[in-house]
Amino acid sequence: MLNWQELEDKISQCNNCPLHSGRTNVVLGRGNRNADILLIGEGPGEEEDQRGEAFVGAAGRLLDQLLCALGFDMDDIYIANIVKCRPPGNRVPTDQEALACMGYLRNQAYLVRPRIIVCMGATASKYVLREKDLKITRERGIMREKNGYHYMPTFHPAALLRDPAKKIDMYNDFKKVMELYEKLKKEGT
Ligand code: URA
Repeated sequence: MLNWQELEDKISQCNNCPLHSGRTNVVLGRGNRNADILLIGEGPGEEEDQRGEAFVGAAGRLLDQLLCALGFDMDDIYIANIVKCRPPGNRVPTDQEALACMGYLRNQAYLVRPRIIVCMGATASKYVLREKDLKITRERGIMREKNGYHYMPTFHPAALLRDPAKKIDMYNDFKKVMELYEKLKKEGT
């Protein structure tokens, strides 16, 4: 596994999939690199591509509001994506693109060493949990434990922008994350 500097250097020169040709910036992530909670989205949008930071556009602002409302300390959180380069027009990454980028995400997870991994949306959930037919509407809100990590699949914040009725579900899912996190801290594990 690479250290952060090596990973940044490698990703900045990456041309493993066609997305590299349209990027302004590679987007590695945002937040505390030693966080206990790792959030995973799909891929950078326009603002993320411009700024080189994850979730700094409209979906990111909504996510930050939700985390803040639930009392999360942003120091406990690191946010990354399945793909590190913006898909054209914000389309869903192809299998080829997602799989070409997964090694980087695995390396990030290895470096962050989170306790809880929140998969935001169907794309993050299906690649992280390795279930290609995963239905997010069915699996969201159900915490799973696998390989020493706790996983929570939930909606992507962009889905809330399109359908505000989903807000309450995502709020409840993150509430479960908060409750588990508090419990793990109390147990000292
Ligand atoms: N959507 C994502 O999935 N990731 C980002 O970084 C921004 C929007």
